[in-house]
Amino acid sequence: MTQHLSPPADASLLRADDRAVLRAHFGQRVAFDEPLAPYTWWRIGGPADALVSVDNSDDAAFVLRLCFKRRLPWFVLGLGSNILVGDGGIRGLVLRLGGSFNELGVTAEDDVIVVRAGASVQMALLTAQAASRGARGIESLAGIPGSVGGALFMNAGTDREIGEFVRDVWVHTPAKPDAHPVGVQYYYRHTTLTRDAIVARVTLAFERGDVAVVRAVMQERLVRRKRTQPVGLPNAGSCFRNPPGAKAGALIESVGAKGWRCGGAEVSALHANFIVNVGNANARDVTALLARVRRAVFEARSIDLELEVHLVGEFTAH
Ligand SMILES: Cc1cc2nc3c(=O)[nH]c(=O)nc-3n(C[C@H](O)[C@H](O)[C@H](O)COP(=O)(O)OP(=O)(O)OC[C@H]3O[C@@H](n4cnc5c(N)ncnc54)[C@H](O)[C@@H]3O)c2cc1C
Repeated sequence: MTQHLSPPADASLLRADDRAVLRAHFGQRVAFDEPLAPYTWWRIGGPADALVSVDNSDDAAFVLRLCFKRRLPWFVLGLGSNILVGDGGIRGLVLRLGGSFNELGVTAEDDVIVVRAGASVQMALLTAQAASRGARGIESLAGIPGSVGGALFMNAGTDREIGEFVRDVWVHTPAKPDAHPVGVQYYYRHTTLTRDAIVARVTLAFERGDVAVVRAVMQERLVRRKRTQPVGLPNAGSCFRNPPGAKAGALIESVGAKGWRCGGAEVSALHANFIVNVGNANARDVTALLARVRRAVFEARSIDLELEVHLVGEFTAH
């Protein structure tokens, strides 16, 4: 039976006056000591000291100035499809973008389809709208269940990655709290964006193609995902990055890990690089299973797998 662990009640970093300042600015858009499990795809994670809905540039700048002044940590949460939040939760402020960060516009400029998207736009919506205008290459981003900000931060993709299509990126940073453009380098599942930056919006550009063809390819890929990924159970996509020249899923399958279980966490029988929450898993179960898989692959194949999912917040020892 999996045990749910909570941090001690006095673990919050927020003083009474911090809470008062946040309540005065955000009203009901701030929740204190809020469990994060419902905000993650894995449905796992302890509470945030404060979960704040950041709805516009003024909110973002306000939060960054407050955190800088009070030396409080913050974490930007997207749709929670690539993170494991520790059972002890996250100290400081957890920011969820919405409001004007949800704006999305798709236009045709000569032979280019230009997508302007706020960071909280869902990739599913962006890809559907871009495909309906014939954006070539968008099919590589179809079926990725995160937000635009998360996709950009992770340089998400499949055979092609989002970074390939970026024209500009606007961020808020503690040094420059108002939104400003920034240059970003893109690598396999990571970028030069620093963890203290809040991605506000991006512009993407795609070659213009035939709408029917783009839609058909995208549909085919979505169907393939449904067949090969455990979409019915909470998960966070691929847990480990592919090492050079190999597939993490195949390596994990080769050591017989499919079906291995720790508490409520299980290596998916459908896709070995996915860990599914089969019922009341906590972060300790998942980290124990990740460690077991990693050790087995290292012992059998001398390859040290690297995590793709981000571990965030406070974890308890195994
Ligand atoms: C079923 C499934 C399939 C998946 N398939 C793929 C795939 O094919 N390819 C792929 O690359 N990934 C895949 N993923 C992983 C995941 O969907 C992507 O990494 C996605 O881009 C994460 O976006 P998110 O909004 O959920 O980010 P989160 O998980 O919430 O956050 C991920 C990281 O991004 C940061 N972040 C989020 N928003 C912002 C912002 N506005 N500003 C600054 N930082 C931010 C967070 O701080 C965190 O460090 C899959 C996941 C699942 C569950």
